[in-house]
This record gives sequence, C-alpha cells and structure tokens, in this order.
Amino acid sequence: MTFLTTPAGWAKVLTGRAGALGADPADLDAAVKAGAFEGLKKAVRDGATLTTATVGEANLGGRTGAGHSAADKWRAVANSPVSQRYVIANGYGADPSVHTDAALLAADPYAVIEGLAIAAFATGATDAILVVRGEDAAAVSRLEGAVGAAEEAGLLGDDACGSGYRITVTVRGLQGSYMLGEQTSLIRALEGKRAQPDQVPPYPTERGLFDKPTLVHGVQTLAAVPWIVREGADAYRKAGANGAAGTMLVQLRGPQGGVAEVPMGTPLRELVTLAGGKPDAVKAVLVGGSTGGFVPASALDTPFEAGALKAAGATIGSGSVTLVDQRACVVDLARLLTRFAADSACGKSIPCRIGLRRLSEIGDRIAAGNPRAGDANLMTDLAHDIAASGLCDHERLATLAFTSAMTHFRDEVDAHLLRSQCPAGVCMPIAMGAGSQGSR
Ligand code: SF4
Repeated sequence: MTFLTTPAGWAKVLTGRAGALGADPADLDAAVKAGAFEGLKKAVRDGATLTTATVGEANLGGRTGAGHSAADKWRAVANSPVSQRYVIANGYGADPSVHTDAALLAADPYAVIEGLAIAAFATGATDAILVVRGEDAAAVSRLEGAVGAAEEAGLLGDDACGSGYRITVTVRGLQGSYMLGEQTSLIRALEGKRAQPDQVPPYPTERGLFDKPTLVHGVQTLAAVPWIVREGADAYRKAGANGAAGTMLVQLRGPQGGVAEVPMGTPLRELVTLAGGKPDAVKAVLVGGSTGGFVPASALDTPFEAGALKAAGATIGSGSVTLVDQRACVVDLARLLTRFAADSACGKSIPCRIGLRRLSEIGDRIAAGNPRAGDANLMTDLAHDIAASGLCDHERLATLAFTSAMTHFRDEVDAHLLRSQCPAGVCMPIAMGAGSQGSR
C-alpha cells in the first residue's frame, strides 16, 4: 500500500514504519527490527496505570466517532468489578467509499495488533478481537498469520513479552452492513445477532460483548497507541495542528486520490491541495464520507477536527474529503447520499427508517423537476425530526448532506425547488436554465 506523499513537516504516527517493512508487512522479523512491540514492552515496564495516563495526556480520542477520550474508556473497563473483559479493534471499514482501515492493516498490521495488545494489558482484558471484512479472505488469513507469528515469538500469548500476562488476539472476519461501524452493532454481530445499535447507556465499557465490559476502538486509534507509548504524549499532541492532537488517515478524492496521513486540525484548504485540487476552483468539499456534509469553498480554512467540522455542518465521519468541482450539482449529490443513507439504516427506529426514505424521495423528485408545494419546508422539518429522534448517530449524519446543502447552497437548492432548474446542468430531465415553473 502506498500512501500519498505529504509535506515534510507532517508527523507519521501511523505510516512511519510502513516504508521500512519491505514487500511483506506481516513479516514479523522485519517489523520487530523496525520497532514493533517496543511499545508493548515499555507498557509492561511502565504498568497499566502509567500507560493509561500517558494515553490520556496525549489526548488520544476516537478518530472517526464522537472522539471520546480513549483513556476514560480504558479506565472504565479497567475499574470494572467484572473480571471477564474484552477489547475490540474495529477494522471493518464500514463506509464503502473509504479504504483507510484496510490500507493501515495492509501496510502495518503489527501497529494495530500491538495497540490492541497494549489496550488489553492496560484494561486487564481477557480477550482481544480484531474485526475485519470477512469478504477479504486473504486479509483475514494474513492477519491470522501475523498474530500466530507474534504468539510463536512470545510477543503475544500466555506470557506476552515476558510480562507474565496473557494476551490473546483473535481475528474475526465479519460480513455485514454499514451499521458495523457503530460499536453496539458490531458487538451484536460478534454475538451472532443482527447488527443493530442498542440504546446507550449502559455503554459497552459497562455492558458490552456478552454483557461484559468491552472497550471498542477503531484500528487507527489503537495503531497510534504504540507510538504514543514509545514517543510520549507530548510528541503525539504536537503531531496535530491548530490545537488538535495527533494524526489521522484521510481518504482523499480529487484529481489525486488516495489515502494520506494528515495532522488533525489541518485546514481543509491544505487537504484540497493534497488531493490535487485548487482551493480557488472547487465549489465545496464533502467531508465525512457517505454520510458527510458539504463545506463550501468560502469555509476552506475550517480545521479538519471534529468540533470545527460539526460547526461547519459536516463531520469527520469515516474520514474522507471529496472535492466537489464547479460542474457538480449539490442537490444531485445530496439525494444520492441520502438514498445511500436510507438504504443503510438498520430500520430499528421508525423516524430514521421512514424519514430518510421520505427525504430521499423528495430529493429524487426535485432533481427530476417535479417539486411539490411545501417540499422546502418538508425537507427542513424531516431533517430536523429525523436528527432528533434516532437510536444512533446515523440519522443525524444521514441528514447532513441535505441540511448542509440547504445552508450553504440555498440558491442552488431553490433553483430546483422553485424553478425546476439545475444550475449545474446535471439533474435530468431538467436542462440548465430551461426548467418549467415549479408547482410551488
Ligand atoms: S437511527 Fe437509524 S440506523 Fe440508527 S438504530 Fe435507528 S434505524 Fe437504525
């Protein structure tokens, strides 16, 4: 796996070792020579409490979800009175348009495995599980081989790194749905049940897999842990930009697409350039992947960081930045994204199940030049009601495409709604500037 070349000053927390691993990144000898398992050995020397404190001082949070403090979750599991505990690394990569998890697992599998082992050690977990896409049988087999080699070398297993502590890692290939990106859905799938979110609280750190305390992290979060333990919390905080800590793998889509490791907090403008685009020429960027939102060109100084993106009407989501050029129609893109979101909803909550379908239908009809009276208000009301009523974050994220389009591209939306015109000339059968008068 080749990552996009980034500016010289950008830290390589997640991809720094990838280039030194040769043709087979799952080759344990090469990985150990390049520093694999040094973090676990140091964690064992430091002890669980100090290791967790270091992760906390680093401000490590979930990369793609709500960004909760990793250390707080670790402490919640470690302090549980229940002795049977689990740690899960989610490398399923639920968003089909984003390949960052698969890229990381292919480029440096031992970074994820070692991070998972450190988390298991620090939380006192009895079992660690690495979840990947079951469809990719070769990847499952490669990762099982990597875990097996580490066990044989005594780096994992009954006396991991000579710690006297047992760390067992199991690779589980799952086949499922978009909902596997949500932690309670993932847990249900691992239990052999339907992948649907549960009401929280109780959070998985209290009652998770088989009702036992469970720590769930994405593979990117865990892969950063060995680096933090080795290099220190301060170095990790400084790897970010504009006050954000650390780095993240981002799926860039533009003239130059690919996966790049970027400092958290990097202005979107720099990511547009990295993707081969011209900040002055783009119309917008779609941030957050398949359930993301549009950020207009006028707001490209927005840092790639959860709080700033939320304020701008987008989300980090699955970690993707897609350049939207002047020829694209945001209404067309929003309706396609909303249809995907409606198709992906698990159906457990009625407002999400029905509301997203209705929102998708409105998008289809205004793009086809058949708006109805009141569609603008109906879209706004639906988006609001859906976002306020679901069991998981999918419903809020799923409405971002239309709500951000309404906020930032109201003229373009109104051209479709009020005049049956598509200014970009994309929506068929509407021809640019030749639409009939809308029925509103
Ligand atoms: S909000 Fe949507 S995706 Fe989430 S549980 Fe409810 S129906 Fe499923």
